[in-house]
Amino acid sequence: MVTTTNLGFPRIGAKRELKKAVEAYWKGDLSREELLATGKNIRLNNWKLQKSAGLDHIPSNDFSFYDTVLDMSATLGCVPERYGWTGGDIDLDLYFAMARGAQKDGRDVIACEMTKWFDTNYHYLVPEFSKHQVFTLSSTKVFDHYQEAKDNGVETRPVLIGPVTYLLLGKSDDESNPLDLLPRLLPVYEQILKRLDNMGVGWVQIDEPFLALDLNAAHAKAYKQAYSALNAARGDIKLLLTTYFEGLKDNTDLACELPVQGLHIDLARAPNQLDDVLAALSDDCVLSLGLVDGRSIWKNNLSRSVAQLETAIAKIGPDRVMVGPSCSLLHVPVDLDLEVKMDAEIKNWMAFATQKLSEIALLGKEASDLKHEIAQSDKIVAERQSSSRIHNKQVQERVSSLTSDMRERKSPYEARAKVQQEHLQLPMYPTTTIGSFPQTQEIRKSRAAFKKGTLSEEEYLEDMKAEIANCVSYQEHIDMDVLVHGEAERNDMVEYFGEQLEGYIFSKFGWVQSYGSRCVKPPIIFGDVSRSQPMTVFWSQYAQSLTDRPLKAMLTGPITMLMWSFKRDDVTWEESARQIALAIRDEVADLEQAGISVIQVDEAAIREGLPLREEDRENYLNWAVDCFKLSTCCVEDKTQIHTHMCYSEFNDIIKPIADLDADVISIETSRSQMELLDAFVAFKYPNEIGPGVYDIHSPRIPTEDEMVALLEKAAKVIPEERLWVNPDCGLKTRGWAEVKPALEHMIKAAKEMRAKTSKKKVA
Ligand code: GLN
Ligand code: ZN
Repeated sequence: MVTTTNLGFPRIGAKRELKKAVEAYWKGDLSREELLATGKNIRLNNWKLQKSAGLDHIPSNDFSFYDTVLDMSATLGCVPERYGWTGGDIDLDLYFAMARGAQKDGRDVIACEMTKWFDTNYHYLVPEFSKHQVFTLSSTKVFDHYQEAKDNGVETRPVLIGPVTYLLLGKSDDESNPLDLLPRLLPVYEQILKRLDNMGVGWVQIDEPFLALDLNAAHAKAYKQAYSALNAARGDIKLLLTTYFEGLKDNTDLACELPVQGLHIDLARAPNQLDDVLAALSDDCVLSLGLVDGRSIWKNNLSRSVAQLETAIAKIGPDRVMVGPSCSLLHVPVDLDLEVKMDAEIKNWMAFATQKLSEIALLGKEASDLKHEIAQSDKIVAERQSSSRIHNKQVQERVSSLTSDMRERKSPYEARAKVQQEHLQLPMYPTTTIGSFPQTQEIRKSRAAFKKGTLSEEEYLEDMKAEIANCVSYQEHIDMDVLVHGEAERNDMVEYFGEQLEGYIFSKFGWVQSYGSRCVKPPIIFGDVSRSQPMTVFWSQYAQSLTDRPLKAMLTGPITMLMWSFKRDDVTWEESARQIALAIRDEVADLEQAGISVIQVDEAAIREGLPLREEDRENYLNWAVDCFKLSTCCVEDKTQIHTHMCYSEFNDIIKPIADLDADVISIETSRSQMELLDAFVAFKYPNEIGPGVYDIHSPRIPTEDEMVALLEKAAKVIPEERLWVNPDCGLKTRGWAEVKPALEHMIKAAKEMRAKTSKKKVA
């Protein structure tokens, strides 16, 4: 019999209990004891759930009050100096100070940096290493949680982030290579293993996702050094080395030579690696097959999984095979059963974390006992394949008959810029915003009441129109050049469009942890995407009717729509993106028809889709750029296309960004003091650009002088006639009290720059 296993379970609770408790604790509305009790409850529930699903190996130490990488830093005593920690156990307040910063006793310490966990939307806290970094065991969490589970009748497999991955996730405060710290780090891992061994632990799971990424010789050396040390220290413990999010590829031999007792591979992301790994696996090593996709919300294709399983069993025998999810189930919602109102047909195709546990358990049975379940699964696969809910012939035909001229503007940028300037008559340093204005209490109330049915559609429309009128007249009043309608009617930039497109469905409780207590509820793309009617024209046209100034319409781009949704597993990402691009294209054309001459297509998430392996990047960037152009290149030269990007590293994708051929790009730069512009200089960005001068993620109101200084910096590297003046991002999270003075300072700053220049806007 094969062993069934899980790699991690969502810790937010089915109804976001952890979020609520943690936030109440921060506010002072919940005691430490109450918070600890909530955490314990969630853990016990999760363990019992996994046990009753019938899993053999159940993880512990996958729970966290904020982030498991931060927990690892606490375990290893890796606390940056600024927190004033002098050793001893790291308590909850120090822990949260590292996560969120703290203002206490006249001290003001900033949080640790946060960044994306590989290609997921989960964010971890970046470990910080100093030159004199020492590591000491400083938290007993991993032991305590193992014991807690045991006391409650559940034998678990403690999870640790592996030493090489831990170092590679972090950054040094000087230029030194974090891997140099390995010899100092390993003794703490050895100490942890020895103590777990004394407690009678059978297996320990060590996550090393970096092992599936591009590695160099130094990485390989570090892996060998680390695992020979851990192997020597493990005693009777067996080590399961887990990889996910990519295939092992060129690291297969390296991974298979490491002295561990089990190796986990992601067969959802990289199903083709199975044969190579089976061939390279050493004789006494167990192979854990990640067959149930931990990144999608679709049911497992049982026939396909059983086939993979049988291949493995035939080669190494059932005793050396484990089955589990491809990665931790952290990245999917907790329980589909809560979705009582979801469309039954589509719901029947889905599995959330709880349902995935049963799928794993099923795979642990003899294939001959699964005839009924396999037939059932095949039936669902077939139903999905032929369902008219998914397949839209018209859309498919349209996608397959795309021509390259659909992705090119009529004239090159220089020619377009002239026509646009004749038409728009903009001053030097034109001012604009990124789209949204403050989402006030009144707006939220109105929307909630409309959704609930206590506010009629007419009343809701009147409320939104009043907001838009107010927003437009305010922008005129402060002398903004290109106005926006303010996006009052939008809940979220992806959800708003998803709700109006065919092929999208929404959950009610489908929350996934994004960072700390923050959760997101991604829309689900289940079928071919199409637009049955205009989505935004009414609002933009109304706003334009109120002013003689150009009014910029706002849309969310195809890549961002895709990246911030749960994707289909029956077509490629590229296929879905092209379908969405066509829907946006139709909207762009309708806006132009309706007399809108500036249209912005936001692509905040373009970098998020970047493949983890270098060899796959070019292909992705090619189709991503194609999709953006497909969605925008239907307009006349005189229509100005804007795009917007924020809060990512753009330096290494600057060429593809230029290839989008948007007339104007607005981009976040103020937090980095315009550092980002260096990349635009080296590359010579050809079109117009608005580097953000107002950091909207902070309540601070920047002064006119500060913004002038930023613009002067920008003007040194970008020709003035191609510079725009705008905030870093949308203003929806801010209040009017901050937005008003900040925008007024921004417009004064633009005018000051305008007064100083002798140059003329292109025309
Ligand atoms: N137009 C959107 C807004 O202003 C863009 C948001 C974003 O880039 N994340 O809110
Ligand atoms: Zn933004």
